[in-house]
Amino acid sequence: MKILLLGKNGQVGWELQRALAPLGNLVALDRHSTADLSGDLADLEGLAATVRTLAPDVIVNAAAYTAVDKAESEPALARRINAEAPQVLAREAAALGAWLVHFSTDYVFDGSGTTPWTEEAPTRPLSVYGRTKREGESAILASGAHAMILRTSWVYATRGQNFAKTMLRLARERETLDVVADQVGAPTGADLIADVTSHILRHLFSQPGASQLSGIYNLAAAGETSWHRYAQFALSHAARQGQSFKVPAERIGAIGTEDYPLPAARPRNSRLDLAKLETTFNLKMPPWQQGVQRMLDEIQA
Ligand code: NDP
Repeated sequence: MKILLLGKNGQVGWELQRALAPLGNLVALDRHSTADLSGDLADLEGLAATVRTLAPDVIVNAAAYTAVDKAESEPALARRINAEAPQVLAREAAALGAWLVHFSTDYVFDGSGTTPWTEEAPTRPLSVYGRTKREGESAILASGAHAMILRTSWVYATRGQNFAKTMLRLARERETLDVVADQVGAPTGADLIADVTSHILRHLFSQPGASQLSGIYNLAAAGETSWHRYAQFALSHAARQGQSFKVPAERIGAIGTEDYPLPAARPRNSRLDLAKLETTFNLKMPPWQQGVQRMLDEIQA
């Protein structure tokens, strides 16, 4: 199996380099790429040429414009990377008969209600980022390519910055710490996303008629929490590891979304229904706490 991975240095892309390696011949690119291969999603012609040159069996697109707040003032660039580039990838995949694996987001929803969103639930993005990601999904679905659109939420990785690390730092530095308590979702590890993606690809390439499985799937850890309870969980775990904080877990303040204004609106309900993913691919997604604990243990080690 020949795989082209785009966005190899992002949270998910980095883990995909590991998880996809045993599946076959993996060509992994970032935006800087090589002299003859462009991995820059803003360069639509270069991107199409890369796919034609490599003629992969699978394109995995882990690159995206993910600066949610900055996207509000850079809508054209966000649209190019999140909507136009996936459209090009889908067109090229369709021409080759290749699979396209693409990642999307809970931000395609308006966050109303408290029920987990199914893949068929109506989308109504609140932000430029969410709108451009939804446009990317629609373009892929309209292309006729064999495609896996994997919607995930609240992604973290051990490498680089993440929410839990930031909370631990702030709780050490500050006298008080307030965290949004009315947005609910499931923190999902980039390692879990990459492992499930690899499992899905194995499944697709071993099943006759797998092209019928094309479509959108929710891919997140199981369970739910708020940013406030997530912060408390991280601090409690770190305290059990022997770390000390100026603000202990039980003194983290709970605030509302309106108390922490940001340029881009966030959905309050980011719960994703996992039934379609679990049934189709015979999976049982682990509770979010498992991955977060593991990440904290790795950081501590
Ligand atoms: P990251 O921001 O960690 O990684 C995105 C990657 O895309 C970076 O390596 C970035 O490169 C790259 N990129 C940006 N612009 C370009 C470009 N023009 N050409 C090539 N590469 C580019 O994101 P995640 O790994 O967290 O996200 C993976 C997927 O999951 C995305 O589709 C995202 O929308 C989705 N998602 C993410 C969530 C989250 O909480 N992070 C939640 C839900 C969905 P560089 O570092 O050079 O800018």
